Amino acid sequence: MTADDQKKQQSSVKVCLRVRPMLAKEYKEHANPCVQASEDEKSVIIGDHRYSFDHVFGESSSQQQVFSETVSLLDSFLSGYNGTIFAYGQTGSGKTYTMAQAPQVDDTDSHLGIIPRAVEYIFKSEVTRRPSTRISVSYIEIYMEGLRDLLKPNQRSSHPHSKEHLPGTIIKHVKNAAKKVVESYDEIMTLFRTFGEYRASGSTLMNEQSSRSHAIFTINLQQEIRPGRYVASKLHLVDLAGSESQKKAGTDGKRLGEAININLGLLALGNVINALHRGDSYIPYRDSQLTSVLRDSLGGNSLTTMVACVSSADTNFSEIFSTVTYARRAR
Ligand code: ADP
Ligand code: MG
Repeated sequence: MTADDQKKQQSSVKVCLRVRPMLAKEYKEHANPCVQASEDEKSVIIGDHRYSFDHVFGESSSQQQVFSETVSLLDSFLSGYNGTIFAYGQTGSGKTYTMAQAPQVDDTDSHLGIIPRAVEYIFKSEVTRRPSTRISVSYIEIYMEGLRDLLKPNQRSSHPHSKEHLPGTIIKHVKNAAKKVVESYDEIMTLFRTFGEYRASGSTLMNEQSSRSHAIFTINLQQEIRPGRYVASKLHLVDLAGSESQKKAGTDGKRLGEAININLGLLALGNVINALHRGDSYIPYRDSQLTSVLRDSLGGNSLTTMVACVSSADTNFSEIFSTVTYARRAR
């Protein structure tokens, strides 16, 4: 079977649900588990309802198991097709753990998330070892419908107390994002870690911002398929903004603006995936920055995997329910 035949047999969007174990903090708050996952039946039971997905990862699922569900998408990327992997869920549900848990000096490999594993897989592939193949990365963040280039940290970030503290240079179009050529696993992971810090580290303000922004790490692959004939493909690895309801977030103007913009991106993404599933002729990509940026890697020949993340603690019940509903609708 050719790669094209294989693609036709697969649905282009795969929706997985991952349930993270309860954290010490949740036990201390006397929370109780409220999600019963069945990996074999690919479903979860919440209350008296059962919800099915393409794949379910229970509380004891390993990072390697989650990664293994993305391998067919990576193979498709290596054969020249675009792909998108994203993590969806409320803040604290395990999105960053699932996508990004990066190698650290004192870390064991078992914690590594999808991004380091995918990078390793790509660099071990035969395609990447050919001297004519080129790999580059870009790393952008969407915050309040604005695009920021995390690979081009701006001058103001040297003043962490400034209210204007921004992690990257604002760009008008994703085409203006910097692309850094990379040649090894170590090089790409160093970039990812270093520049990711412009997003997540620093003041409380920054942490709040990072949970309200979408981070898109993109791997661009250019390969020579015949002498002089090149094919380009890209892989977007996305840590989405927290999906929690923003009602509690206060009433000042900025917060409200943030809430509206975040919901806009996630809402638009849900609508796009839903329209792709229905086979609509019109796909509303232009409804948000997020869907505009991902446009050429959602639908068409591209493969998409969404990992919807939930906590299992009943203190998060309404957010768990909302994530499950969103993920079901995307399926
Ligand atoms: P998010 O990015 O969605 O806000 P995080 O990935 O930061 O959430 O996860 C919140 C906390 O839960 C972190 O301390 C993280 O290490 C832990 N965690 C998340 N998922 C898991 C998991 N599957 N197993 C163990 N710990 C997890
Ligand atoms: Mg996070």
